[in-house]
Amino acid sequence: MIHNDRHNRARLIAPEIAPYLHGDEGAPLSLPRCTICGRVQWPPRPSCVECGGIRFSPYSAAPRGTLFSWTTTHRAPSPEYADLTPFTVVIVELDDHDGVRLLGRLAATGDVPSLRVGMRMHGARERDARERSLLTWRIDD
Ligand SMILES: [Zn+2]
Repeated sequence: MIHNDRHNRARLIAPEIAPYLHGDEGAPLSLPRCTICGRVQWPPRPSCVECGGIRFSPYSAAPRGTLFSWTTTHRAPSPEYADLTPFTVVIVELDDHDGVRLLGRLAATGDVPSLRVGMRMHGARERDARERSLLTWRIDD
């Protein structure tokens, strides 16, 4: 689904993903789980890649995992992001769910030279400077 309005650039939000990306601050991380085999299916698909099942139910996954990759943006993609740069987006591979990797923002701002693949991470839905509830990741202490 493409949303356009005068104040925002075009944003691409797949309708099958949107319900899982948006949630209130502090809401559990909810992902689709196959009702037949129990596999967490991410990204969402019409059928389960494990058993072919076509029914899914929401599953509260523990937002814990390891850092798989990241990128830091230094140049704002549009003027509305100018005061947020630099910011870092991470991909975290969840514990307990083989191959499930989630995108989110890193709570730390600026350059983060201490990041390493495999670092332990934990996430939560938090509000950003724009009052949007986003999956936000932090490095474990
Ligand atoms: Zn299945």
